[in-house]
Amino acid sequence: MSQKNPGFSTHAIHTGQDVDEVYGAVVPPLHFSTTYAPDGIGNLRNGYDYGRAGNPTRTALQEQLAALEGGAHAFSFGSGLAAEDAVIRGLMRPGQRIVMGNDAYGGSYRLISRIHGDWGIANTPLNLNDLDRVAAEMEASDATLLWVETPSNPLMAVTDIAALAEIAHANDALLVVDNTFATPYLQRPLQLGADVVVHSTTKYIGGHSDVVGGAVVLGQGAQELAEKVAFQQFAVGAVSGPLDAYLTTRGLKTLGVRMDRHCENAQKIAEYFADHSAVEKVLYPGLPDHPGHELAARQMSGFGGMVSIQLAGGEAAARKVAEATQLFILAESLGGIESLMNYPHEMTHASVRGTELAVPENLLRLSVGIEDVEDLIDDVEQALGAI
Ligand SMILES: *Cc1c(COP(=O)(O)O)cnc(C)c1O
Repeated sequence: MSQKNPGFSTHAIHTGQDVDEVYGAVVPPLHFSTTYAPDGIGNLRNGYDYGRAGNPTRTALQEQLAALEGGAHAFSFGSGLAAEDAVIRGLMRPGQRIVMGNDAYGGSYRLISRIHGDWGIANTPLNLNDLDRVAAEMEASDATLLWVETPSNPLMAVTDIAALAEIAHANDALLVVDNTFATPYLQRPLQLGADVVVHSTTKYIGGHSDVVGGAVVLGQGAQELAEKVAFQQFAVGAVSGPLDAYLTTRGLKTLGVRMDRHCENAQKIAEYFADHSAVEKVLYPGLPDHPGHELAARQMSGFGGMVSIQLAGGEAAARKVAEATQLFILAESLGGIESLMNYPHEMTHASVRGTELAVPENLLRLSVGIEDVEDLIDDVEQALGAI
């Protein structure tokens, strides 16, 4: 690219997407080949030999992801959890400890507690907004990794990335940020001091609910960490396949315009809920009374497309509304162009019931899509009327 400092969407559309040199194809060809012929023994053409080790379609996505996070290295995986696993096994050893948010995504907690836990990695779930407690725990426990998800899933807590980076570094630990909810369009953790960014690209980055994937992004100067994650990707092999990488790249090109609309629609729906008597509480950082509003305004460039609500009528009301919407589809996942409704207690977060990470029974999580917002509001209005 000839521009000195390309903007977000210019990077998204052009980085890793050079015009094909053989046919002039504007969209880079999708490479399915699992193996690559060298020019004689030991003379690889452009570094590729075998599909687990490298694939040009995956490379294109990795270059795009690194540029968009303002990072220097990116690695694409078959799922968000596979990406998280590569970070934990690459950067930690049995006997070490991870301090994490007590409102983390249920699947991340399940991975860390039940898979890594069995291999000797301990975890301490904490309220990461209590910075004094986090600092005390990091000091007392000698943890090597601090793991934060902000905004968090599904409680929409906003946590101070720069402050956590300082605490982690004062204790010789690394800060990992799960940037799935915010996306690099709204939040750049590496610039705020984080060491590692992880993504479920299944969500906003893919953006069309048609491809599962994950990514790890590391900053300048993280060469050693990058080698460790690269080795996990290569030696374990939880890589994204070529078609998955291609679909993710295609989604990523429109991330900026999609996020603008997600934010706009979510703000309007959150404001609608805030005025509704059946809604006890609206959890959306774009509302001025959200405890993380000011921090989010500083740390993010928009408040995102996820809105959670707690119903005054308790669990029964939440279940009724979840099953009464028509445009909002009752389903797991988030971040696609279509609006989705989730009942975390029994869906996405069923695995953390009865643990410290359990979510309220009157909670609904909405992934606000990019449909016409008047139609979305009509839909939640009729659903709330069904209580
Ligand atoms: C979905 C999700 C994950 C897990 O990603 P998969 O692609 O489902 O493996 C991790 N973190 C957050 C915040 C998520 O929403």
